[in-house]
Amino acid sequence: MIRTKIIATMGPACGDVDALYRLFEAGVDVCRLNFSHGSLDAHLLQLRNIREAAARFDHPIAVLGDLCGPKIRLGQVADVDGTGGVPIAVGDELVIQRADTLGNRVDGTCRVSSIYKHLVDDVQIGDRLLIEDGLLRFVCTDKNFNELRCQTTVGGVLKSRKGVNLPNTVVNVPSITDYDWECANWAVDNDLDYLALSFVRKPEDLLLLREHLRNRVSDIHLIAKIEKAEAIKALDGILDASDGLMVARGDLGVEMDVAEVPILQKELIRRCQAAAKPVIVATQMLQSMIEQASPTRAEVSDVANAIFDGTDAVMLSGETSVGKFPIGAVHTMSHVADTTERYLIQTGGFREPALRLKNMHLSGAVAKGVWQIVQDLKVKLVVIWSQTGATARIFSKTRFPVPIVALSSDHRALRRMALHFGVVPQEMSPPSELSALVADVDAMVRSHKYAEPGDRIVLVAGSSMGTPGTLNGVVIHTVGEQWSTNPTASDAPALMAAP
Ligand code: ATP
Ligand code: MG
Ligand code: MG
Repeated sequence: MIRTKIIATMGPACGDVDALYRLFEAGVDVCRLNFSHGSLDAHLLQLRNIREAAARFDHPIAVLGDLCGPKIRLGQVADVDGTGGVPIAVGDELVIQRADTLGNRVDGTCRVSSIYKHLVDDVQIGDRLLIEDGLLRFVCTDKNFNELRCQTTVGGVLKSRKGVNLPNTVVNVPSITDYDWECANWAVDNDLDYLALSFVRKPEDLLLLREHLRNRVSDIHLIAKIEKAEAIKALDGILDASDGLMVARGDLGVEMDVAEVPILQKELIRRCQAAAKPVIVATQMLQSMIEQASPTRAEVSDVANAIFDGTDAVMLSGETSVGKFPIGAVHTMSHVADTTERYLIQTGGFREPALRLKNMHLSGAVAKGVWQIVQDLKVKLVVIWSQTGATARIFSKTRFPVPIVALSSDHRALRRMALHFGVVPQEMSPPSELSALVADVDAMVRSHKYAEPGDRIVLVAGSSMGTPGTLNGVVIHTVGEQWSTNPTASDAPALMAAP
């Protein structure tokens, strides 16, 4: 059982129920629907398949919708000679026109359009245009009302709907587009668990979305994708306004100096640690596995280092959505995570409570105490009651050397917990009293083989169970033994009332 969570982007390479089930078996915890690619109808089919495969699977699977935000993209492009797009070489001219067109080479000139109609207005002569996370590069040499003329400085293949970054251009596109609102409503109607917003620039972008969701009585959790220099400047507010961050390295490495990316990754993970919010490291983690069955050494190091940095989750993009080896990519990620985590445990990487909360929370203090108990008493497992998932989130950030099984009767909360490092979500109906809970947990850990008779476990039951006060406590329990709420003198040290 690995602690690092794996997010897989959905797409044609993993669409059917059997393929999805195998992805889950290989270690996927969260499915990402990227609204930038494919229609809402296609996403609905995909979502049905995810739900069907998840219903057969024994751990909750979360679904994250990824809103395009103000990301400028190319329109559709033809597939020339099986290249998957239109090849363009250094020095070639690229024309980007205002009117929609199927991108192609016409009389020797590449001609494409963009999904953003004001691109021709916003880009000025001399501005740089970077396509597909900077793989292809252009500079604007001339323009008129209808089109931009650009020279290719780095060539490649222009493909449908690839992102266009404009590092020197002031863009007038709204933070949340009409299509984003449509996708957000779709996400509410279809009960998604997380919504990520691309190209967040300021806290208000998230607050606006949050207000809309609230009006629709939705508590979908919001992930801010950090991929712009403006977002780095406004990070405190953005972190406050969101439920977690994604280190969106693809665009981040184009919008900013690429050499800053590893530093920002560490910094963003550290900030999420202090805020007790989940963080995702994304983009190109096993990029070569889109085409090849085995990863590069650099990619393996990247996955391991993200875990050393303290990320909650690692994400696969093209590897699972359009790659040739989606299951192999997930297996690789799981294996690297397993090996890295074993090393961390053996070498004491989880020896100090990693929790450094800015505002110490009640659950944060309890988690620190439980962490010490786990060390001193060689505890095998921590079981917490976390009805809404908030306690699970905070315990997750404490980075225990043992798994945290988080109990709730709320399916949505359980699915959301699938994103939290080290947390194993487990459904249970709320028990009437503490001794019943201990008995239920005892049976549950044995049936799932989380622990064996004779193993010591710690059970944390907060007031969120429903009867405030009465069930607030930390119980040290030996699996298989009878536990009583009337402790004898010898049991006394085992029962501590939490504040
Ligand atoms: P973002 O900036 O939001 O990550 P992206 O364009 O990089 O957007 P990814 O989800 O990272 O998209 O996927 C990588 C590539 O895989 C895409 O650029 C696209 O070519 C392809 N892809 C992803 N999802 C789909 C899909 N559902 N259908 C077809 N192609 C897809
Ligand atoms: Mg991006
Ligand atoms: Mg991407």
